[in-house]
Amino acid sequence: MTTTPLTLAEIESLAISTLTKNGCDEANAKAIASTITRAERDGSASHGLFRLPGYVKSMQSGKVNGKAIPVIDHKLASVIAVDGDHGYAPYTLECALPELAKAAQSTGIAVMRLYNSFHFAALWPEVEYLAEQNLVGIACTCFKPSVAPAGAKKAFFGTNPLAFAWPRPDSTPVVFDMATSRLAKGDVMLAARDGHTLPDGTGLGPDGEPTNDPNEVLKGVLLPFGGYKGSAISMMVELLSAALAGDQFSYEAQKQDNNDGGPARGGELIIAISPELVAGAGWDDHAGSFFDEMSALEGVRLPGARRHDNRKDTGTRQVNTALIETIKGL
Ligand code: NDP
Repeated sequence: MTTTPLTLAEIESLAISTLTKNGCDEANAKAIASTITRAERDGSASHGLFRLPGYVKSMQSGKVNGKAIPVIDHKLASVIAVDGDHGYAPYTLECALPELAKAAQSTGIAVMRLYNSFHFAALWPEVEYLAEQNLVGIACTCFKPSVAPAGAKKAFFGTNPLAFAWPRPDSTPVVFDMATSRLAKGDVMLAARDGHTLPDGTGLGPDGEPTNDPNEVLKGVLLPFGGYKGSAISMMVELLSAALAGDQFSYEAQKQDNNDGGPARGGELIIAISPELVAGAGWDDHAGSFFDEMSALEGVRLPGARRHDNRKDTGTRQVNTALIETIKGL
């Protein structure tokens, strides 16, 4: 794979100009570009510039509103409903997350449901934002079916990510953000593009048999992580982000989506909890001792640490050269 070094500023400006040329207003373009740039910064290539052609395709097809103006309904103290105006999630989240944080800081726990929105990014930005406000954050969303529930050979669940962040006032938050499939679909697509094989248990080919070939898995189905246990968590994500958020289950999104290469419409559920109000004074020292004990075990590293370490490097990122050419042609 041939790569080209780009600074983070160059990545952001390439994303902003591509998005504004293709239907985004400035506010939406800046929010999406920031999400893309932070993914490249953290070494999460599958949610960086790699996603930009998909963002553009769904605006070109008329499915997504690049000029979305989210509407926030906050009638109950602990429940916030956000209509994303058929736009991409980053700008909606930028507008609504401060309201969620404020609610949790006054009531102890608050929940936000986001609907009429299109999520094509990682989830850690939303939970990490909450942790930066000294809140515990939990977020999940569903997608279109590409994962077979345990026992099945047919896709029914999305790759249904679940993210969690724990605040550490004197340090970076502890964050995990993971697809509930064995591998995220973006990583399978990258493996297909770059000619890599997949780890065992990633998916089944179109014949329903296990395979390590990413091209066969893309024609077949992904599997949940951890067998029936991951399958149950993926089911929970469907219920929280569709039934509770008031948007489509993955199987409903499949029927309604125009398959233009971008994301399908879907909901997101985000929960914010104040440890100060729920656990009271001393919560931070208590959790801090737990992290110290855990980190002292040989072989352990805390989730999120890889991304936070990557941030220390403010230099250029290596970006696939063919992808840059594709983006410049949009
Ligand atoms: P990974 O499997 O790469 O990582 C999952 C989590 O595990 C990360 O928080 C990671 O932390 C942590 N981790 C990895 N290795 C270790 C280790 N050895 N010890 C401790 N922790 C570890 O992520 P996925 O491929 O499952 O997901 C990638 C992204 O895809 C996510 O950001 C997710 O939100 C996104 N996604 C979005 C979808 C959407 O519809 N919008 C759909 C599906 C996925 P670290 O980052 O520090 O490595």
